[in-house]
Amino acid sequence: MNGSAYCHMCGQQTQPQAVMCVSCGASLTRASTSGASSNRIAAGVCGIIFNCLGIHKFILGYTNAGLIMLLGSILTCGIAALPFSIIGIVEGIIYLTKSDEEFVATYVRNRKEWF
Ligand SMILES: [Zn+2]
Repeated sequence: MNGSAYCHMCGQQTQPQAVMCVSCGASLTRASTSGASSNRIAAGVCGIIFNCLGIHKFILGYTNAGLIMLLGSILTCGIAALPFSIIGIVEGIIYLTKSDEEFVATYVRNRKEWF
């Protein structure tokens, strides 16, 4: 995400976490989370469907966590695939049940890699 944000209505610079423009009162939530929102659905669905392959981690940009799941499942001949599938499904459900704002705050700003 961009370090600084600008109001789409009046062009004033706003705080990246602001939900409302202090200058004109326009709602900023929709503009700032629309991209992350589509990622949230895609990552959640991939977490549930592909679970142990870690595809949902790659979608969120967590390359290391994705590789751990992908390679861990393959290199252990499927031994680690069972716990990783459970993790993937649980994470997918968590992504889908979060609101866009929560999702952005947790996974886009804080870069929380697991759960
Ligand atoms: Zn404004």
